Amino acid sequence: MKDSPHIAVVGAGIVGLSCALWLQRKGFMVTLIDPAEPGSGTSSGNACTIAEYGCMPVNSPDLFRRLPQLLLSSDSPLSLDLRYALSHPGWMLQFLLNCREAKVARITRLLGKLLAKTNEGLDPLLEMADAQDLVRASGFLRLYATEAEYRADQAANEIRREQGSEFVEVDSGEIRDLEPNLKMEFARGVFYEHIRQTINPHRLCLRYFEAFRRNGGDYRPRRASAIGHALDQVEVELDDGDRVGANRVVIAAGAFSKQIDGIPVQRLPLDTERGYHVHYDGRQSLLQRPVTWHKTGFYAVPTDEGIRCAGTVEIAGYHERKNPRNLDYIQRHARQMLDLPETPDRDWLGFRPTLPDSLPVIGFSTVSEYIIYAFGHHHLGLTLGGITGKLVAELANGEQPSHNIKPFRPARFL
Ligand SMILES: Cc1cc2nc3c(=O)[nH]c(=O)nc-3n(C[C@H](O)[C@H](O)[C@H](O)COP(=O)(O)OP(=O)(O)OC[C@H]3O[C@@H](n4cnc5c(N)ncnc54)[C@H](O)[C@@H]3O)c2cc1C
Repeated sequence: MKDSPHIAVVGAGIVGLSCALWLQRKGFMVTLIDPAEPGSGTSSGNACTIAEYGCMPVNSPDLFRRLPQLLLSSDSPLSLDLRYALSHPGWMLQFLLNCREAKVARITRLLGKLLAKTNEGLDPLLEMADAQDLVRASGFLRLYATEAEYRADQAANEIRREQGSEFVEVDSGEIRDLEPNLKMEFARGVFYEHIRQTINPHRLCLRYFEAFRRNGGDYRPRRASAIGHALDQVEVELDDGDRVGANRVVIAAGAFSKQIDGIPVQRLPLDTERGYHVHYDGRQSLLQRPVTWHKTGFYAVPTDEGIRCAGTVEIAGYHERKNPRNLDYIQRHARQMLDLPETPDRDWLGFRPTLPDSLPVIGFSTVSEYIIYAFGHHHLGLTLGGITGKLVAELANGEQPSHNIKPFRPARFL
């Protein structure tokens, strides 16, 4: 490997790790840069679901009508810090413009096509990292308490089906058979029998990292502060003043990708959709699979440690303060669904990296083919990390990418 081209990957979340492994598969020498333990950020606390059906973006024509109720009610999965929104109007405005019907139809189609490649990107990595034991095909259940809730989501279900998702409709008796420990009665559901989940997304990342090290990967536990050029090389400046020289650099720092100097990534409208989870130790036998009561906007998921209830969207920027309203919302509805104690054992806040058109950025930077962007996977990073890694490795290798990445190029915003 000594004379192989050298790639630096900034960010060791699920996306950066997937890029690093795919690059190693292509024969590159890889240096991975992250000040935090690999996979310990947003990639650790998600809802664990390989959501191949997740083609419907948060953007929706319906959102305009529902926005006041969603934002003002304390019983809503969506919350917004008005002060933050008013001081960052660009992202909000672009997000709302992407709620128009034609835009949403396009986003749905593009996400649907990329999601269809999920396994092509993920399965070789699971094998390479010997991580199949951390992923299981338990299926996924979307539930509706009333006929009205079900009807309100029927058009979306049809779109998911058109985009290739396979599911069957289930009635209250079948739901009871599938999940006997649900406390509530659900009128309707849709069951995706083939969907997979990881039992622990952080352990999955650590398993990827072990494989990366086994394959000779170099790791720098530092923050990348700037990217610079030196002849036909890129140089990643680290926060201790050290520099990593490489033939190319991949920017995969999730929601924080804009905080690196020297590249025009700052001009992209990347922001964060904050999301939460609450965790109940040792109660995993309550559920067989990830389950969502659709209207609540969070998933209840059995992990190897207990029950994790993860989701909601909060637009409020990058600070670390948790909003008790979001945590209370998840806990209240989780206790309606399942026999859970009043207080969870822990809670967590994560930062989804989100562009206002709910599409990731995958491709060369607008100024240099030495720099490849791979971020912005919003609600789908666990699912799309693998295929993103594959496409990035193809780009780095000078190949025609095996999937059309034009719609994901950064230039779409510039
Ligand atoms: C509540 C919730 C539930 C979710 N559920 C699901 C789900 O079920 N399925 C799914 O597919 N997706 C889900 N997601 C989305 C998914 O978790 C994210 O899309 C994904 O984790 C993003 O991964 P990432 O690698 O891009 O970013 P991160 O995981 O944020 O990793 C970025 C890494 O970059 C590092 N970094 C930052 N700045 C620098 C720097 N300057 N230099 C070096 N390193 C840096 C950070 O330390 C971090 O380790 C969910 C998200 C949330 C919040």
